[in-house]
Formats: sequence, C-alpha cells, structure tokens
Amino acid sequence: MSKYDVAVIGSGPGGYVAAIRCAQLGMKTAIIEKYNTLGGTCLNVGCIPSKALLDSSHHYEDALKHFEDHGIEIPGDIKLNFKKMIERKASVVEQNTKGIEYLMDKNSIDVLQGVGTFNDKNTVVISSEGKDDQTIEAKHIIIATGSKPATLPFIKIDKERIITSTEALSLKEIPRHMVVIGGGVIGLELGQVYRRLGAEVSVVEYMDRIIPTMDAAQSKELTKVMKKQGVKFYVSHKVSKVARKGDEVTITATDKKDKEVTLSGDYCLVAVGRRPFTDGLKVENAGVKLNERGQVAVNEHMQTNVQNIYAIGDVVRGAMLAHKAEEEGVFVAETIAGQKPHIDYNLIPGVVYTWPEVASVGKTEEQLKEEDIAYKTGQFSMRALGRSRASGDIDGFVKILADKKTDEVLGVHIVGARAADLIAEAVTAMEFRASAEDIARMSHAHPTYAEAIKEAALAATDDRALHS
Ligand code: FAD
Ligand code: NAD
Repeated sequence: MSKYDVAVIGSGPGGYVAAIRCAQLGMKTAIIEKYNTLGGTCLNVGCIPSKALLDSSHHYEDALKHFEDHGIEIPGDIKLNFKKMIERKASVVEQNTKGIEYLMDKNSIDVLQGVGTFNDKNTVVISSEGKDDQTIEAKHIIIATGSKPATLPFIKIDKERIITSTEALSLKEIPRHMVVIGGGVIGLELGQVYRRLGAEVSVVEYMDRIIPTMDAAQSKELTKVMKKQGVKFYVSHKVSKVARKGDEVTITATDKKDKEVTLSGDYCLVAVGRRPFTDGLKVENAGVKLNERGQVAVNEHMQTNVQNIYAIGDVVRGAMLAHKAEEEGVFVAETIAGQKPHIDYNLIPGVVYTWPEVASVGKTEEQLKEEDIAYKTGQFSMRALGRSRASGDIDGFVKILADKKTDEVLGVHIVGARAADLIAEAVTAMEFRASAEDIARMSHAHPTYAEAIKEAALAATDDRALHS
C-alpha cells in the first residue's frame, strides 16, 4: 500500500493548491480526482469556461453594436459561429486543465484517478471503472470535494431544456428565450452571455433585488445596465412550478402580491446556488461529521472533528469562490506543517464578471447599518473619467465606505469596466488598514479606471473629489 504524508481528495482550486503547498513544504503528497481532467468545477465547468464565453460574447456584441462608434466598418453581415465559440471555450479549458497536470508533475505530486472513499481515518480507497481498486494510507487527509448545482425540490433537471450552469456552458444552439431562475452570479453571467448572442433572457429572482448579498447600489446599477441590454427581471418572484412539454418549458411564479406569473421559454437555467458535495466519500467510515447544511464541519483551523482530517473550499462553510478555496488550501498545508497561517474572510473579494463588472470587498452599506457602525461614503461615477470616455465604458461607479471617526476603509464596491482587477487595490489597501485619505493621497496613473478609486476616496475623505 502506498503511504503519503498528505492525501487530497478533489483537484479543484482548493485541492490542487493545497497539494502544491504541501509538496512545497516537503510532504509526500497524493491528489485523488474522480474525473479524467484536473481542476474541478472552476476549470472544467465554472470560472474558466464561463469567462471564455463571456469574453467571446462580449467581442460579438462589440462587433455588432460598438465597432461603428469607433469608426470600424465591417462589410457584410457579422455572423456568429456558435459551434466554434463553444469549441474555443473547450480548448481554453483544456489548456488550463493540462496546466494543472504540469504543476502536479513539477511538484512530484501523485495523481490518482478515481472516486476516493474513506475506509477509515487514515486510508482511502480509490475506485475507477475498469481498474482495480487502490488503497492508500495517509497521515493527513484533506477533503476538497467541492460542490454541485443545487435545485428546488419541485424541479427536475433534465439536462436538455431544464438545465444547470454545466449544460448552459455547452449548448448546441442559442436559446430563443432562456428563463433563468436565480438572479445571482451564475444567472447574471450566463444570462448576459446568451442575451448578447441574441436570446431573449428573463431572470426570476426570489429576493427584492438581484445579487442580493452585494451592496444595494451595485444591484441597482447592474439592473439598470442589464435592462438596457434587454434582460427582463422579475424580482420578488417565488417560482412554484417548472414544467416541460416538448421543447417548451413553462415557469410559474408568484409575485409579492401573490399574483401568478407564467413565463415560457425553450430553456430554463436553474441557478439557485450550489450544494456541498460529499456523495460517495463515505465520511462516516472515518467518523467525520457534516453540519446541518450538509457541509463538512470544520473548526477555525479547517480541521474536522477527526484530528488528521481537514476540509476546504466549497464543501465547507463560507463563500463558494475559487480564490477562497485556494486560500484555504494554502492555510491547511501550512497548518499541517506546523505554521500559524491566517485568513481574513472579510477581505475575500467577490466579483460578477458581467460587463460592466461588479466587484466588492469588505462590508456593504447594508451590513454597516445592521451592525450600527458609523460610516461615511465617497462615490465617484465612471462616466466622469477620461479613460471611460475613451473606451466608451461609462456605466458604473466606485463607492468607498469608511469609518466615520477613524477614516479606515471598511468596504469598497465597484461597478464598471475592469472592476474585477480594480478591486485588488481595495483589498491591498484594506489589508494594510488604509484610511480613505491614504488612498486619496496615492498617485494613480492617468488615464485609468483606477482613478475612480482615488476620486471616491477623495469624496469620502472630505467631499473633495476633483473631477465631479
Ligand atoms: P471544486 O472545484 O468543485 O472541485 C472539487 C473536485 O473534487 C471536483 O473535481 C470533483 O470531481 C472532485 N471530487 C468530488 N468528490 C470526489 C471523490 N469522492 N473522489 C475524487 N474526487 C472527488 N468562483 C470564482 O471565484 N470566480 C468565478 O469566476 C467563478 N465562476 C464560476 C462559474 C460557474 C458556472 C460555477 C459553477 C462556479 C464558479 N465559481 C467561480 C465557483 C468556483 O468554481 C468554486 O468556488 C470552486 O471551484 C471551488 O473549488 P473547490 O476546490 O472547493 O471544489
Ligand atoms: P447565488 O447564491 O449567487 O445566487 C442564487 C440566487 O438565486 C440568489 O439571488 C437567490 O436569492 C436566488 N434564489 C434562490 N432560490 C430561489 C427561488 N426559489 N426562486 C428564485 N430565485 C431564487 O448562486 P449561483 O448563482 O447559483 O452560483 C453558485 C455559486 O457559484 C455561488 O456561491 C457563487 O459564489 C459561485 N459562482 C461565483 C462566480 C464568480 O465569482 N464570478 C460565478 C459563478 C458562480
């Protein structure tokens, strides 16, 4: 039987990063993955393919709607080759998953293909069709088995017309009308992809606003922009029935006043969140406990109730984000090596890769109110920037929330071009506990979108933005 210092179950961003850090720290490491490709949800059916389609569909929309503004004329009709777009996405995924194989090899990590099942707290059986079961022994085991799309009890996902994000990333045709259940990250990113490609898109959201966990100002701005792009929103609508007849799917929902609303489309994308995935793992054989939400229960060291078994990423509490899983992967590896790592969960940014992008870090205005923290606000519109006018990306804003007394930055919320990259400045500033004035006094290159951060900081400091 092969013996390891660490066995990692699951090769998503949590698992593969944990494995690399364990190997860097001198531990003999194995990674177990049930699929033939490494990289988990993120690389195969999540972050990477969705961003590939967002980028491709953005180019298409630019060619259709914006090239002319720039004086670019294309003779003849602009044609969409959707099959090629999907093929390109597949090749982007392949390049990335191959990259993980390379990293495993480079770090001398054994990749064991098959479903990992606990035998006891130190042994895992790996089973793969057509191969003999393999049993390995490990001093430490890291559960990084991720998540799967969730659904509603009355919805049967048929993977043809009633689909999850996984199928939506590999459709064979552009939907005529895609009804999206859930105005969260997946619903809006993939809804925007298909809207750009010509589909009618309707988003049905249970809460009174889309992206309900982000700052309300961001929900409002994104709603405004996406409505202009032609997406229809049904907020405060509770879906009660989804029925398919032939190629038609009918979605029934009730609004705030209990009025029934019916929407019919050829595709229904169910995007109501994801559930932790522990199927087939048999955690009970190792004595590992799950919590009431089906997540692997962990303490502040990401340790389960069984001392040598840890869990990270989507399968444990907290935001289901690739970079959160990665931080936890490093955290656990360093904990096993006897170090004392730290993660500040308040400073894990959240991004929605629509265009304009939406990015956040720290507390939202709603949270500050709820926690009764006195704050001040500085906001600056993207449209006032020379850079935004040059590119034509004038939607959005930067909003900085700072402590009323100390001026410490407590939250930064951005809607705008390249917000996903801009948020890194806010994370850095907040990691160093910067005040709004600290940011306001730093030179920001001109002309850049980042100048909006400086201007919002100036606005928060003493209402002294220079360009508004
Ligand atoms: P996963 O990536 O889910 O990996 C778990 C792995 O474990 C899988 O490969 C699975 O096959 C394997 N596994 C499970 N059980 C076993 C077993 N018993 N034996 C062997 N292997 C097993 N996050 C972002 O931060 N940014 C984004 O832009 C983003 N976009 C997304 C877009 C979509 C459409 C989706 C669905 C998700 C997106 N996410 C994004 C979320 C992100 O993908 C997850 O947060 C991230 O993948 C979680 O990483 P993980 O390592 O915890 O689990
Ligand atoms: P989500 O939690 O972001 O959004 C789900 C939405 O569905 C919420 O707004 C919720 O109020 C709504 N909802 C729930 N039940 C409903 C019902 N019965 N009727 C109507 N609406 C209902 O989840 P998601 O969009 O499915 O994404 C899953 C996970 O994947 C998220 O945790 C997210 O962090 C991650 N993800 C991240 C990114 C990114 O970082 N850019 C992209 C995609 C996915």
